[in-house]
Amino acid sequence: MSLDPLRYFPADPAQRRIATDLFATIEKLPLVCPHGHTDPAWFATDAPFEDAVSLLLWPDHYLLRLLYSAGVTLESIGLAPREGGGEVEKDRRRIWKRLADHYYIFRGTPCRAWLDHTFLEVFGLDRPFVPASADHYYDAINEKLTQPAFRPRALFERFNIEVIATTEHSGDGLKHHEALAASGWKGRVVTTLRPDEITDPDHDQFAASIRRIGELSGEDTGSWKGYLRAIENRRAFFRSHGATATDHGHPTAQTADLSAGDAEELFARVTSGKSDPKDRELFRAQMLTEMARMSVEDGMVMQIHPGCWRNHNTQLYRRFGANIGGDMPARGAFMGELKPLLDRFGNRADFTLLLFTLDESTYSRELAPLAGHYPCLKLGPAWWFHDSPEGMMRYRRLTTESAGFYNTAGFNDDTRAFFSIPARHDLARRIDCAYLSELVIQSRLPMEEAVHVAVDLAYNLPKKVYKL
Ligand SMILES: [Zn+2]
Repeated sequence: MSLDPLRYFPADPAQRRIATDLFATIEKLPLVCPHGHTDPAWFATDAPFEDAVSLLLWPDHYLLRLLYSAGVTLESIGLAPREGGGEVEKDRRRIWKRLADHYYIFRGTPCRAWLDHTFLEVFGLDRPFVPASADHYYDAINEKLTQPAFRPRALFERFNIEVIATTEHSGDGLKHHEALAASGWKGRVVTTLRPDEITDPDHDQFAASIRRIGELSGEDTGSWKGYLRAIENRRAFFRSHGATATDHGHPTAQTADLSAGDAEELFARVTSGKSDPKDRELFRAQMLTEMARMSVEDGMVMQIHPGCWRNHNTQLYRRFGANIGGDMPARGAFMGELKPLLDRFGNRADFTLLLFTLDESTYSRELAPLAGHYPCLKLGPAWWFHDSPEGMMRYRRLTTESAGFYNTAGFNDDTRAFFSIPARHDLARRIDCAYLSELVIQSRLPMEEAVHVAVDLAYNLPKKVYKL
């Protein structure tokens, strides 16, 4: 088994040569990872990873989703329900074998590409991953994980990561980031503030989280003004630990611009438990605009990741909790939804608002025209269900003509699957080179300019947009 050096490039020989030449100029550039979900404890403690199953299977909701669709129960791959339920498989070798037994279901999916790349490039496993080689894979991976070269910091360096951002909630004490800063290790790991638990009244930790940031900031979060000051205080704390960005995972991109009096009354309703669903959506909407105001003041880049229908499979959510593959894309809308926020801050070139979507129909209809006009707006890369070869190509085709390349933010891997990070960046770089090769061969862009674009997309844009 080997990786084809020309994988994902166009079939036409002349165009393929252009893509190959473009890729050669960016293949070895350092990885910039401005948005993701790796665990800062890995880098702070540098402890060895446990084993193949807990590293490569359990945390990967992409794998869990498709396995479940094929009739593989979560119990049979070692995940225990919160209550009741039948037998849970404890033997990790058998769990690993079950993944091998079902590896065929990932044919044609990006999961397959990422895992093949990880097996070969990271672990040096060059036999096909099939049921008959499952034991060999299991033993080889677990043996490698005991070696110093497979500790988190060594891999960070081997992967050529220049900077990686993790994501923490508003009440996090950022102990691991503090330990990292004090450790003297030169790897750059920054945090990102994800404050949904204090801005979304439907979050199950809403009341407790607001109390917590009150304690941490010394502000009275029982009042609207004290609550806002407490958030500003947490933002400053996160900035002091390297954060340059916030991230907002709201159900919709709805924004609002209420008067101070109306906002105060709304805050009182949502914190006293006397709100209805409309109030709660309006509060989330108002908070996006408040967060934008704070970003204008403190310079943090703001990201909105809307439109995910979390825990769509209610039965499975009740039994196993979140992040087991039951999240779905919802229909998206931005044009009217963002207007209240844009009416206030849309014309500020010193404010950066990055938009992501799970609804690809919004790219050409709404997002690219908006980003191609408002100075504050940038488009985040293809996200989640669409960070695939076809999805990334569709993203370029749907956005470039209205927004250009320079209203996009390059690539981010958005993953907690640390071992797949080189594979994901490799794939994104190849797809961008494939797209650019088409512009070059059709004389829509000179080769020397395409080289600049390729370098900017792979390296310069994510650093610039995220202020890293
Ligand atoms: Zn994310």
